[in-house]
Amino acid sequence: MVDLLPKLKRGFVLAVSAPSGTGKTSLCDKLRDDYSFIVRSISMTTRPKRDGEVSGQDYEFVSEEDFLKRKSNGEMLETAEVFGRWYGTPKTPVERAIEEGKVIVMDIDTVGAFNVKKILKDDCVTVFILPPSFQELERRLRSRGKNSPEELKLRLSEAAREMRESAKYEYIIGNHDFSEAYQRLLGIVMTERQKAFRVELSHSNP
Ligand code: 5GP
Repeated sequence: MVDLLPKLKRGFVLAVSAPSGTGKTSLCDKLRDDYSFIVRSISMTTRPKRDGEVSGQDYEFVSEEDFLKRKSNGEMLETAEVFGRWYGTPKTPVERAIEEGKVIVMDIDTVGAFNVKKILKDDCVTVFILPPSFQELERRLRSRGKNSPEELKLRLSEAAREMRESAKYEYIIGNHDFSEAYQRLLGIVMTERQKAFRVELSHSNP
């Protein structure tokens, strides 16, 4: 008989932030690939679809009118305007996934992460991923070969700004070695899932 084993009652949002070039996307993708209870949040945007993007997979692409209507109806968990386009997280799929005991990974900037934490409180766990050093971050960004010298400078100063915010997160992980950082991130997910308020006890109702 195993009827005393606790069941997961409530999932949570895992809000992960990091300067670009830190390996955040690969870490989050691996979590979702390895565990079916870990899912991604699909944002909504008013920006045009890029080649190869799939609606409902990369983003949900909607018109500005539709987006603003949803925003004023209170259907969005959080929104942000970036380069004149709207982005946001629809509330219902996140709430439903939390109730189903899922872990919803959000790859999100520092402003968005603090907004989500303020709204969801205990239903959100914040994690910041640090690069091993500035020199290493610069080397990684350069080796991608995607940025002009000006963009590189901008990204590095943006990284410094974001890193100053890292102390406000609940967890901080350094990504010196991918598999070690992954084990630490997975450890946070597994530990958070066992928090007493997220667990349903069968023995409390014999
Ligand atoms: P892109 O257009 O390149 O896909 O994304 C542009 C920016 O929008 C990125 O910085 C990305 O993190 C941000 N973004 C994407 N989805 C959301 C969202 O749901 N909420 C917020 N606050 N920012 C988002």
